[in-house]
Amino acid sequence: MAYTYDPQNIFARILRGEIPNKTVVETAHTLVFHDIHPHAPVHVLAIPKGAYVNFDHFAAEASAEEIVDFHRTVAKVIADLGLSGEAGYRGITNAGRAGLQEVPHYHLHILGGRVLGRLVDPA
Ligand code: 5GP
Repeated sequence: MAYTYDPQNIFARILRGEIPNKTVVETAHTLVFHDIHPHAPVHVLAIPKGAYVNFDHFAAEASAEEIVDFHRTVAKVIADLGLSGEAGYRGITNAGRAGLQEVPHYHLHILGGRVLGRLVDPA
């Protein structure tokens, strides 16, 4: 699969410092920041710094170091934001047309702080 990455997408611009963000944590390979339109009391976005369009692109082509850094960072954020254990959370990633992906840079939504309802709307 050949993936095409648009370097002008909004998260690429955030990573270049062209647009401000409310950062939760930043590592060598990962940035976690607050969603500008939160859908829950906690709604953050975790993105790799590398140019990956979506989850399957990241999973197929990122280095082991990037993949480990991303997931360990997400785990730390989940703990730090009080979502681990009983409290719980939902991780969502949207891809392409069926997923209604708006921003074509891989991002994992982490939502919590309330009961989040059903996984998807009925069709
Ligand atoms: P998607 O629909 O692609 O999964 O989600 C994109 C998310 O990015 C949305 O939840 C939207 O609110 C968020 N978003 C879009 N533009 C910006 C921005 O400039 N800053 C931040 N922090 N979030 C954004």
